[in-house]
Amino acid sequence: MIIPPGVPGVVFGTRADGDARSDEHARNVFSTRFGISRDWATVKQVHGTVIATADAPGFQGEADGLTTDVVGLPLAIATADCVPVVLIAERARAVVHAGWRGVAGGAVSEALGIMRRSGNIVTRAVIGPHIGPCCYEVGQEVVDAIGGYEARTRDGDVSVDLAAATRAQIEGVEVMDMGICTFDDGSMASYRQDRTPDRQVTVVWLPQD
Ligand SMILES: [Zn+2]
Repeated sequence: MIIPPGVPGVVFGTRADGDARSDEHARNVFSTRFGISRDWATVKQVHGTVIATADAPGFQGEADGLTTDVVGLPLAIATADCVPVVLIAERARAVVHAGWRGVAGGAVSEALGIMRRSGNIVTRAVIGPHIGPCCYEVGQEVVDAIGGYEARTRDGDVSVDLAAATRAQIEGVEVMDMGICTFDDGSMASYRQDRTPDRQVTVVWLPQD
């Protein structure tokens, strides 16, 4: 587990922590450790830009992010190279799964907009482990779709910087980037690395005051 310092209510799982959306044991370990409910809100991720607003635990349909203002309600998404992004307001939380399609479509902007329209001031964001520009070789169509943010892999191939593109969607919000490349870090599931079916979860909740 990776716990961003100074940010209560956010935890990024590692491969060893399992996919706690479907694995009850893994979910119990998470929930017990952080003193949160074992009943989480989840979605079926489809690389889109729909963000579900969760008022209660359980399956919230097809979406690529979740937001809530319910204290103690855990929101969970899963990734294995895509970018997990957490948005933090005093009385709300959101978590977004953003691969290149989600970044191109503005999934993080969408979550930010929902929170703001509900009267929340998003002050901080955390970008979790994802494939870095060092390893994310892409075709020109992906560079074009994202609207720039072209970078180079370690081998000199064309890549994109998903974190930089994500930051651009949340200008004015203080961002903490965990700086972990899933492809390089052996403790992380990376679909690009080995076509793994494994995912690491990101779990977010609004702590009690
Ligand atoms: Zn890398």
